[in-house]
Amino acid sequence: MSNTIIQVKNLHKKYGEFEAVKGISFDVMEGEIFGLLGPNGAGKSTTLEIIETLREKTSGEVIVNGLNLDHSPNEIKKIIGVQLQTSGYYPNLNLIELIRLFAGLYNEEADPMALLDKINLKDKAKAKFKELSGGQKQRFSIATTLINHPKIIFLDEPTTGLDPQARRNLWDLIKGIRDEGTTVILTTHYMDEAEVLCDRVAIIDSGKIIAIASPDKMIDDLVATGFERPKEVKKANLEDVFINLTGHSIREE
Ligand code: ADP
Ligand code: MG
Repeated sequence: MSNTIIQVKNLHKKYGEFEAVKGISFDVMEGEIFGLLGPNGAGKSTTLEIIETLREKTSGEVIVNGLNLDHSPNEIKKIIGVQLQTSGYYPNLNLIELIRLFAGLYNEEADPMALLDKINLKDKAKAKFKELSGGQKQRFSIATTLINHPKIIFLDEPTTGLDPQARRNLWDLIKGIRDEGTTVILTTHYMDEAEVLCDRVAIIDSGKIIAIASPDKMIDDLVATGFERPKEVKKANLEDVFINLTGHSIREE
């Protein structure tokens, strides 16, 4: 039913003598949220940046929407959206000005208020980027990936450092983007996040993929081996308590 939009075959990346990515292969399907999970240093960012055309691979093959990375990097750039490190923004421009600036770089028409509405930041339209909270900055930077109407967006640890409410707001935003037809590939080291957000995940450790499946399938497979959690699990956790006490709405920080 769904088409493959990214194919990675036997990808290797060496930094000098050190091999950070050791021959990984995976496919991403059109319209899914695909997660690369793994501890720090596993090779997640390296892998994403190679697919984004921002880093040279050592060997292997990468095809994005039928385009070979070796032959058509510029065509690939046109159909992807990449979340920049937030420190890269001009701190003294307001959000409308930043959206216009990005749109100009992409040669696209932008409707800044519509975009801000999508991320619940209309009331911050005249605020400067540096005046936003952590969660608002992340929402804004995700929105900027959408300006060139990409087929695929890449989010590298989009929720790291956010509080629980801001994380959940971001999950809703990312699901909404996927629901509108954009493929999302993201990295995270939060398993709870991957479980609610990702259609499929690849678990990567020390430069190797050790499992690829839907979170559901991975959990079922583990349970089928006879695995049981060591102690009885309560019906709520401390995060649920926090969100219940402070409210789940867009109220942030
Ligand atoms: P992750 O995003 O999973 O935390 P990275 O892809 O950033 O992992 O890094 C994978 C490994 O490659 C780490 O051991 C890291 O120190 C190393 N590494 C990353 N970038 C460079 C670089 N530019 N030069 C040398 N080593 C690097
Ligand atoms: Mg990383």
